[in-house]
Amino acid sequence: QIFMPLNFLGFVYREIRGSLTNIENLFTLLAKKPAIVDRADAKELNVTKGQISFENVGFSYHEDRRILKNVNFVVKAGTKVAVVGESGAGKSTLVKLLFRFYDPTEGCIKIDGQDIALHTQDSVRRHIGIVPQDTVLFNDTLYENIRYGRPDASELEIEEAIKLAHLDTFVTRLPDKGNTQVGERGLKLSGGEKQRVAIARTILKRPPIMVFDEATSSLDSQSEQAILSALREIAKGHTSFMIAHRLSTIVDADMIIVMDQGQIAEQGSHNELLKLDGLYTKLWQAQQKNSDND
Ligand code: ADP
Ligand code: MG
Repeated sequence: QIFMPLNFLGFVYREIRGSLTNIENLFTLLAKKPAIVDRADAKELNVTKGQISFENVGFSYHEDRRILKNVNFVVKAGTKVAVVGESGAGKSTLVKLLFRFYDPTEGCIKIDGQDIALHTQDSVRRHIGIVPQDTVLFNDTLYENIRYGRPDASELEIEEAIKLAHLDTFVTRLPDKGNTQVGERGLKLSGGEKQRVAIARTILKRPPIMVFDEATSSLDSQSEQAILSALREIAKGHTSFMIAHRLSTIVDADMIIVMDQGQIAEQGSHNELLKLDGLYTKLWQAQQKNSDND
């Protein structure tokens, strides 16, 4: 008679131990990843052209503060859109929504007519290459960090990406060249070097949609010019989404979106926006003045 409860207790103990480990894992995951979960019936996103549309998108990180309001725009497949605006205007948040780090609180984002919130995060991210404002490197070699862009890439293709991202001179100077350990436990790279690793990853991945979030902001203006011209070549025929601090780098964009406090203030080409004589003109003139003083 007494064995039953003991057995039962043993079972309960094992169960609890098992779930504690899982709970621990869950918390570690949650600490690192924003909590968005695919729907049970989520489908694979099918990207044929790479057209992006934001339809009445609203977003809050926390209920009490709305970050994006009524955002509407369409990026035609294969064109280049630039997003500009003061720091804190919500530019990076747009990118995080496009990459499905979060889902919009209101409205929806469509890629080739498909609402991305109804599709798997994996399939959305497979079609988008992103060079974020702050790149995180893995504790691995420099080569592996770049190969992450496309795991089946050949050595030659990795070398090519390194050249296009203007990392070749840097790599030659490393103790173990491309096999040098980087990341938190290895060689620490500067902001500009990390950005170039992210650019090399994206070059390797060559996805239909490429996103650059102030991707050249940590570079000196000479390297910036060189990398921008490489990016222009690579982005040809792809849809590209470029968040820019220096307006001089995006005058050639097919469309420029000017963000102000979470809303679109103006949109159009560089010349159209200058004619409006509004916020874009103000930002443009302020930067022209600064570069005169350099
Ligand atoms: P931008 O890229 O234009 O400088 P962001 O999109 O990064 O602007 O930020 C827009 C607003 O959202 C800012 O007020 C910022 O403080 C806030 N914000 C950004 N990330 C988070 C977050 N993870 N949690 C809460 N608020 C955030
Ligand atoms: Mg930003």
